[in-house]
Amino acid sequence: MRYLEEFSNPDLARHLVGQIHAVTTRPWAMMEVCGGQTHSIIRHGIDQLLPPGVEMIHGPGCPVCVTPLETIDKALAIAEQPGVIFCSFGDMLRVPGSGRDLFAVKSAGADVRVVYSPMDALTLARENPDRPVVFFGIGFETTAPANAMTVYQARRLGVTNFSLLVSHVLVPPAIAAIMESPRCRVQAFLAAGHVCSVMGTSEYPPLASRYGVPIVVTGFEPLDILEGIRQTIVQLEAGRHELSNAYPRAVRAEGNPAALAMLQDVFEVTDRTWRGIGMIPGSGWRLSSRYREYDAEERFAVTDVRTSESPLCRSGEVLQGLLKPHECEAFGKQCTPRNPLGATMVSSEGACAAYYAYRRLDLVRL
Ligand code: SF4
Repeated sequence: MRYLEEFSNPDLARHLVGQIHAVTTRPWAMMEVCGGQTHSIIRHGIDQLLPPGVEMIHGPGCPVCVTPLETIDKALAIAEQPGVIFCSFGDMLRVPGSGRDLFAVKSAGADVRVVYSPMDALTLARENPDRPVVFFGIGFETTAPANAMTVYQARRLGVTNFSLLVSHVLVPPAIAAIMESPRCRVQAFLAAGHVCSVMGTSEYPPLASRYGVPIVVTGFEPLDILEGIRQTIVQLEAGRHELSNAYPRAVRAEGNPAALAMLQDVFEVTDRTWRGIGMIPGSGWRLSSRYREYDAEERFAVTDVRTSESPLCRSGEVLQGLLKPHECEAFGKQCTPRNPLGATMVSSEGACAAYYAYRRLDLVRL
């Protein structure tokens, strides 16, 4: 299958691994920002093919994992209000809030529906004009354009019973926050290719220069990731810290102009709390004043929500690359995908889920 098998070719992978070994003379620690890349790395054992001392640190780029607990609790509070149809992608349904998840609220009688596109939620709103319909709009710069388009269309079509619970986050401020941490060990970044396909690459050269780290735009298939790692190590060994694009088949420097225009119209930058990490200034989007009437938080008055995390869960350290999932005491014991204590064990892009799914739990049992 084109674009899948050809980017998993074992002979080419062996060749790239050989090149990585040939250029590496010392230990390096680099962070893959995106949870999709983390899963690909763990699934294919890429981290185990690297030269000794070359470490992949898993970053905070799992949108479900970094959605604040407070926002999950707000989603629960909205979903259980009478008459509401609450729509979400399926991976949010099992993410634990302070005590429950959306599945629990649904099983108690709330009308919680899994949709495959935010536009499906807008369709539901048009089909049910007498009921409020809310879509849970989370994610990075990748999912934001479709959510922005939905609100844009709601206004254009005069659909007033639709609203969006927004928790969008942005990658470049997170990279800055990671580099500012006194415990930071990251020497380079693999930037998320899909984010850059929307946003372009102009935000990254200043970060590479300010923090002295190479940033390599990287895709998601095994060969994409190996090439990203190779380009990163070439820069590190040469003492360079630049932006380079190892995913040119999807990413252009200017990004996607149509998506950028939609984002600029519908959203505005705001401070955002990241679950397990804390508040990062200017790291999120909220609906702009032109679209504020579609903001579910304002419409349902769920601003006074108090939260409490499981005291056992160390997902904040996992998300910052300070702890590998299997180093958490609860990993594979109190915390499993069937009984998750933190979002990083639930999400299809969570690092804890990746370590569990691909048998890295054996590491703690040996
Ligand atoms: S293994 Fe579970 S408890 Fe530990 S950090 Fe991951 S999600 Fe939290």
